Amino acid sequence: MAGSSPSPAVAIDLGGTKALVAPAEGTDPPTRIPTAGIADGAKLMDDLARVVLRLTDGRPPRTLALATAGTLDLETGTIVHAANLPFRRTPVVTALADRLGCRVILVGDGPAAAVGELAVGGRAAVRHGLYITVSTGIGMGMLLDGRIYVGDHGSGGELGHMPVALVDGESCACGRRGCLEAYASGTGIARRAQRLVEAGATGDLARSAALRPLEAREVFAAAGAGDRFAGGLVEDALEMLAVAISGVFAVLRPQVIVMGGGIMADGSLLPGLRSRVEARLRPDVPDVVQLIQSAVHGERSVLEGARAIARGEPAAVRMGASLGWGAADD
Ligand SMILES: [Zn+2]
Repeated sequence: MAGSSPSPAVAIDLGGTKALVAPAEGTDPPTRIPTAGIADGAKLMDDLARVVLRLTDGRPPRTLALATAGTLDLETGTIVHAANLPFRRTPVVTALADRLGCRVILVGDGPAAAVGELAVGGRAAVRHGLYITVSTGIGMGMLLDGRIYVGDHGSGGELGHMPVALVDGESCACGRRGCLEAYASGTGIARRAQRLVEAGATGDLARSAALRPLEAREVFAAAGAGDRFAGGLVEDALEMLAVAISGVFAVLRPQVIVMGGGIMADGSLLPGLRSRVEARLRPDVPDVVQLIQSAVHGERSVLEGARAIARGEPAAVRMGASLGWGAADD
């Protein structure tokens, strides 16, 4: 496909289990690259670049938007740390720009999902909104006054590391104690189940846990089937989420909070979470929090946000204008 047609823009959603790569325009399903257990960061960059070039017939893409998990430094285009990716202070913008010869825009997966849910998801009237993902980790994208807010160097929005337990807190993967993630993320719930079994918890789930490591989905299934130990873990997870969300709500007063991520995906936890959040709000707050399920893009929220950013869609650009999204050519 030579000639004068402009090269496509491309978007990547890079996470700890998979990367999704898709053209920014159109509705083609994304190419999926497994990332779990990959230890060689340079090879992962090579693989991503190869898939991108396949989508552009070997030409440099017009723009590449890279939405990624982890702690980022948008000023330097660097992934500072990502729990399940082989990057430590890795200059990913330069690495991909060198391989592809194009402008690369780096954005966190929380802000990208907020764009996907609140800018291009048919909710353009929202000026103050949050997107919270509860999955293997817990993250947040913030739309404040019509702009995406990412904090200094783009490292804000780490809702998962908000302290929620001040006494005898569970230990968190970040090295501290009492973080929300240690109670309410998929990995936190599974780790907590294991720890409590070792401390003497009983029941069917506890017996299984004594034989092999548990997964969070087993905890939820057992809670649904009436296992009291599992039910207690789920109650604690919802309570800690409510503590964090009601605190964030009191500070930021969003119009809407969209809940996404695998743990919230089937919607069954939302009513319990909503009532717990409302119970923690000041009774004289005039309107209740609008806590809703991600219905717009589901697990594609991050990718849809990255596609809108790569297309330079006006709503996404307006939201991103305050970010200084890193770019190779400026
Ligand atoms: Zn933490």
